[in-house]
Amino acid sequence: MGFTVEQACPQCGAPIELDETDRLIICPYCHIKNYLFAKDYFRFLLPAKASNDEIIYAPYMRFKGSVYLCEGSTINYAIVDLTYQATTLKQLPLSLGLRPQAMQMHFVTPDVAGSFLSCSLNPSDVLAEVGKRTSALAAETLFHRAYVGETFSLIYLPLFVHDGTVFDAVINKPVAALPDAEGLMIPEQRERPEWRITFMATICPQCGGDLDGERDSVVLTCPVCETAWEASEGHLMPVDRVVFGGDEKDLAYVPFWKITVREEELGINTLADFMRIAQLPLVKKRDGEDKSLSFWLPAFKVRPREFLRLASQMTARPPGGGPAAGISLKTLSPVTLPREEAAQCLKVVLANIVTDKRAFSPLLPRINLSVTKYTLIYLPFKARGLDMVQEETGICINKNVLKYGRSL
Ligand SMILES: [Zn+2]
Ligand SMILES: [Zn+2]
Repeated sequence: MGFTVEQACPQCGAPIELDETDRLIICPYCHIKNYLFAKDYFRFLLPAKASNDEIIYAPYMRFKGSVYLCEGSTINYAIVDLTYQATTLKQLPLSLGLRPQAMQMHFVTPDVAGSFLSCSLNPSDVLAEVGKRTSALAAETLFHRAYVGETFSLIYLPLFVHDGTVFDAVINKPVAALPDAEGLMIPEQRERPEWRITFMATICPQCGGDLDGERDSVVLTCPVCETAWEASEGHLMPVDRVVFGGDEKDLAYVPFWKITVREEELGINTLADFMRIAQLPLVKKRDGEDKSLSFWLPAFKVRPREFLRLASQMTARPPGGGPAAGISLKTLSPVTLPREEAAQCLKVVLANIVTDKRAFSPLLPRINLSVTKYTLIYLPFKARGLDMVQEETGICINKNVLKYGRSL
């Protein structure tokens, strides 16, 4: 479950309500488009109810994503959404409970009144904690773990001190008996966040056209010069994009990251090498020997089980086809999973395809897949009842699975 954020339009000041995963915002009043970008991670405030006392914001670090565990003979996965109290004051509530989902949040801005407690956690600490929690799920020896679609954010809980007691300013109730409530008043514990959200103009760097996308798109497309762009470090960087054509009418185009790799340790450098390791026959005899090895991973958020199934089917039996021209941008599904996130799952896909997992899993720590190329490829799918079917490979995606994935 995500939460909502209220943000003023940077152009006209009108309030815009966003979902947590929204990146492209279109003001309903002045219709100006902006792309949201944050250095490191997004920072949100829970709303404080009116209080005469000074508000002190306590940081909580949140991790949201899918975790994959490669064990001896199985692959386990889970969707994780965990929040950790991020100050050194251990008496504060350990987590935010359901508060973020119940209230509308705001982005932190430099002009927020009140003070902020220092954040003593960083994402690697949180990942270590998430690792500990999820390792407990593994029934066998764990050989490899991957986090996909990982998002970190900082959520600030407003507090105030009254008569020596610390109150939660969201619910206006004492949080706990705090013997060192004074700790909150020590200036060294405080910091002034310099952080701010960045609004990027959605102008095509190549032709100056107005870029298109959906609210949760991580790749924007230019309808004029047909290029694709992703936000990286506050800049728009070009994405290598190809749309494969299809024979039928009324097709929808679903995006996949084709990730080309090299692997020197075990020498897995062609599809033929890959299938030999996986102990599977090549579907088309000629395939693979002279080709480099590419993984095909969904470029959209989808539940772990579906992600793994689609990636494994596509990688073991890569679709053919080639670029087509004149395809309407409106028929392209949005890219909601950044390429670096998809790439986290390469070894898991490899392990999933291998027939004898028990023998193969211990090799996983030695395998080093280095990415040589990313290509965004849109494949044609035809709607058939509740499914979307890729005509060449016969691979199916349930429409509801696609829809549900966008809220992950
Ligand atoms: Zn506006
Ligand atoms: Zn352009």
